[in-house]
Amino acid sequence: MKIAIYPGSFDPVTSGHLNIIRRAAKIFDRLVVCVMVNGGKSPMFTLEERVELIRRVTKDLPNVEVDSSNELLAEYARRKGGSVLVKGLRAGSDFEYEFQMALINRSINPDLDTMFLTAEHQYMYMSSSTVKELGKYGVDLSDFLPEEIIPDFQERIKLNLQGGK
Ligand code: ADP
Repeated sequence: MKIAIYPGSFDPVTSGHLNIIRRAAKIFDRLVVCVMVNGGKSPMFTLEERVELIRRVTKDLPNVEVDSSNELLAEYARRKGGSVLVKGLRAGSDFEYEFQMALINRSINPDLDTMFLTAEHQYMYMSSSTVKELGKYGVDLSDFLPEEIIPDFQERIKLNLQGGK
């Protein structure tokens, strides 16, 4: 059984992420979407909330599991029996960093390969941060976020704005 891991911060999961999830789920027997703890970022949604939002938008995909971890990614993949890391590659910004990460992960776990899926053209310049920025200005988010999570997102934006964030 081919198991792939799709790691990220998913704060929150965007339509760009979901596009990668759907495509990867067709390629592998099992896809584990893993919300990774990233000490450097202060997230809008908690780890548990991010996991729940991803579960909600992937509930029609039986071979997708959603998990979270604070482990080293290469170790996590080993523990889950994953042999491939899936990454989405956007225009320009991702390449250097992802190339470096792929080499590091392989040096820690030589059985682990990284596979890049190119972003769909309409999501090529989209990140969770840009969506959060647009959200503050009341832009229509239906092109950027899965329909099922827009109310949660708008609610959180409102709370943050009230709290001065
Ligand atoms: P971001 O906060 O920049 O959206 P994440 O850490 O949540 O980043 O991203 C997880 C993975 O999803 C990374 O491999 C990233 O390259 C990929 N990704 C992020 N946004 C998109 C997108 N719009 N299209 C395709 N892949 C994406």
